[in-house]
Order: sequence, then C-alpha cells, then structure tokens
Amino acid sequence: MFPKADWANFVDEQEKLVANKLSNVEITKTNELPKSDVSSDETDQPSLADSSFLQKLIRKGLVDNKNDLEIQRQDPNSPLFSVKTFEALELKPNLLKGVYEMGFNAPSKIQETALPTLLTDPPQNLIAQSQSGTGKTAAFVLAMLSRVNPDLRYPQVLCLSPTYELAVQTGEVAAHMVKYCPEIELKSAVRGEEVPRGSKLTEQVVIGTPGKVLDWALKFRVFDLSKITVFVLDEADVMIDTQGHQDQCIRIHKCLSQTCQMMFFSATYNQKIMDFAEIIVKNPIIIRLKREEESLDNIKQYYVKCASQQEKYNAVTNIYGTVGVGQAIIFCHTRRTANWLAEKMSKDGHAVAILTGELSVEQRIHVLDRFRNGTEKVLITTNVLSRGIDVEQVTIVVNFDLPLDGNGQPDCETYLHRIGRTGRFGKHGIAINLVDSSEAMEICQTFEKHFGRKIKYLNADDSDEIEKIGA
Ligand code: ADP
Repeated sequence: MFPKADWANFVDEQEKLVANKLSNVEITKTNELPKSDVSSDETDQPSLADSSFLQKLIRKGLVDNKNDLEIQRQDPNSPLFSVKTFEALELKPNLLKGVYEMGFNAPSKIQETALPTLLTDPPQNLIAQSQSGTGKTAAFVLAMLSRVNPDLRYPQVLCLSPTYELAVQTGEVAAHMVKYCPEIELKSAVRGEEVPRGSKLTEQVVIGTPGKVLDWALKFRVFDLSKITVFVLDEADVMIDTQGHQDQCIRIHKCLSQTCQMMFFSATYNQKIMDFAEIIVKNPIIIRLKREEESLDNIKQYYVKCASQQEKYNAVTNIYGTVGVGQAIIFCHTRRTANWLAEKMSKDGHAVAILTGELSVEQRIHVLDRFRNGTEKVLITTNVLSRGIDVEQVTIVVNFDLPLDGNGQPDCETYLHRIGRTGRFGKHGIAINLVDSSEAMEICQTFEKHFGRKIKYLNADDSDEIEKIGA
C-alpha cells in the first residue's frame, strides 16, 4: 500500500535524507590558487538527465510561452478541441479542487490542447513536445488521474520516468493533485521501494523507473501490464539518452494491451525521438510548442582584462560591490576554481552559494532553493548549470572562465545559455567576461562576431565606470 499519506511520508523521508546529507557538506578547502584549468571530469559536463532535472528544479513557475502550437494528426477532419478553463474539462470535482489548490488558475498553452485530447473518448494517443516548465507533467498527471476507475483495486495507470529523481517529482505532483480523492492510491516503483513476492498491488497508479517496473511486472508479477489502460512515457529524450532505458521501455510496451492509451512527452524533438515514439505510439496526435528563444538583446556585455586569477577575483568583487543590487551567477570552468572562489568570497563576507557536479541531487535542490529565495546573492557554478537560470532577480552573469566545448573551442551555444534571457522578465541584464590571456581575448571576439553584438571594454578598477553599467 502506498496511499497519499504514505507518499507524503516517503517525501518527508527524502527531505530528512537531504538534511542529514547537508549537515555533512563543506566547501572543499583549497587555499592555494588553482592551477590553470585543465580539462578533466572536474569541468562538470552535465548529462541530459542531470540537466533536465535541474531545469525542473530551477523552473518552479510556469513558462509563459508565447509561441504557437504546431499540431499534426492523422485525420485532419477529426475535431480537435482546446479549453481555456479547467472547468471546461469536466473533471471529477475533487480533482479540480486539488488542481486549484496547487495554484493553477487556467491551463497553460500546451495544456489547453493536450488535456482535451487526453481526456476525450475513445482515448487518443498523444505525442507532446515542449520545453521544460511549460506544464507537460501537470497535464499528463491530471489526465492519468482522471482516467482512474477507483472501484478497481489494481494498477491501471503506469507512468515511466527516466530517473529516480524525476519519478519522485512526478509522484509528488500526483500526490498533491489527488489530495481530495482518497479513493485514488499511488505507488512508487523506484529504487528503495520493495514489494513482497507473491503480493499484488492494489494501488491504481504506478509511477516509476523502467528497471523497477520491469522487475515488479515481469519478475515478481505484482501487477499485470495487460490491465494498464493509460501508459505515460515522460522525458522521452532523456530516456533514449540513458543506457538501456529505451529497450526496457519497449519491453514494457510490448506487454500492454492494444487499447491502452499512450502518452509520450519530450522536451526536445528530433528524428531519434520520433523513431522511438513511432514504436510506442500508434496513430498519435502530435502537439509541439516551439522553444522560447534566448536572446542577447538588452544584455549589456563587457570584458575585463585581468592578468591573474587574483585580478579576476578583484574584478568580481569590485563589480559586484558596486553594481550589486540583484543577484549574480558566476561561471567557472572547473570545480576547483569554483570552490576556491566560493571560499575566498565567503571569507570576504559575501553570502555565496556553490553548485557543482560533486553535490548530490538533494544538495543541489537545497542550494537552488536558497538562491532562489535570495538567502545567497551570489551563485558560483560550473557547466553543471550550463543553461543558466532565467530568474528575474539575476542581474549579473560573470564568466569567470569563458565557456569552451569538449575540444577547447569557444562554445557559443553555452555562452548564449549562460547569459541570454528569454522574453519573460523584460530581458535586462549585465554580462561580464573576464579575459586573462590573448587566447581568452580571441574567444571573446569569437562570441562578439558570432552574435553580432559588441562586447565592450570595462575597467574594473574604475568605480565611476562600473557604476555607469548598472544604470
Ligand atoms: P514540464 O513538465 O513541461 O517541465 P510542469 O508541469 O512541471 O512542466 O510545470 C512547470 C511549473 O509550472 C510547475 O511548477 C507547475 O506546478 C507549474 N504549472 C503547471 N501547470 C500550471 C498551470 N496551469 N498554472 C500554473 N502553474 C502551472
């Protein structure tokens, strides 16, 4: 049994685990200056699963995407509905109550079309693609829960997520939504969860990772895949990026009934994903919401010449000390530099947070929450946060080290992700590039040329000049 109260306990346990782990966290003490940034696993190149999860953590609110939906369907004559309110979906009243209590007033852009499609009878298969934060999870969780027949005491809805953390997150969303529906029960099929052999699951909704689900369904036979009426595949792009997951999903899919409704979600869209989708989802309606472009418009870009690591440090503190009204993110190439900088800034009395690949997921959540709440004004990080953070309070982004790709070449895409903003917050910002060699100057010029935007010289010792950039 894993009713909602148990799910809440499970989440509480997770939080306790975080607290325990956090009490042991300490910034690595490195008093000496870092040596030149050699390429190593210290550079924190994130996996797709990592990035995807971090995006979810960062984007607590809904992304208000202004782009149009693109819709493809087999039969263009069959009507396609869209709704502007949750009432129009005729949900179970207690489910609607849960939705409102989550603070959702109206469906997001992708939900407007996805929800009626998912809830219509006979059930329609759907492929939906939109960037992280546009409301996909909320959409499929609501559809899953609406389809449950609470009188039947066995799993009817199965949702696969590529990682433990993503599965737990989805479970949390579901637990919130069914708060007022005591008749619907959830079961988490992730590592650490065990079921006695020979027992049978009585919960209607199973949310888990492919390996665990395969074990439970085929090895232990605690539930019957052929009785599943709704199958959700979340984060399909991460799924195919994760070794073995695609095959496991296909094995699970083979045991489902012909009439099972398929829901396939992805943040990105390419041929590989569509090939995978074709195996899982027959005759789908495809909904795509183009990604909101990041742009450098209204970002004032500067470079500062620094002869040494110490000068770079001085530049950061001078600039932040003068302009520092909002929050700042500082990107370093390696964990070592990030740790060094964090320690030095803390000693000088700045409230800094540090986020690198050596932190566990729980620790990352904690760091990002504190930064978002403004407890720390400065976040020092590596490429683990390669997509930057599109939050309103961040006014300055500093490239302590300029972004390089795996071959040591200027990485224009990462530069854009780090400093660019989407249209949501009025786009204003300052980007500072610290240039400590002729190579670094060339990299800076590459960015300038690539984006066709001037990167101006800034004298970081001249406080009058620095004051002007903040104006
Ligand atoms: P995705 O799965 O596309 O990454 P989510 O479903 O996780 O997006 O939604 C992103 C954020 O927006 C979450 O914090 C979620 O609670 C919130 N959200 C989702 N739908 C709505 C809505 N209709 N109104 C307000 N907030 C929403």
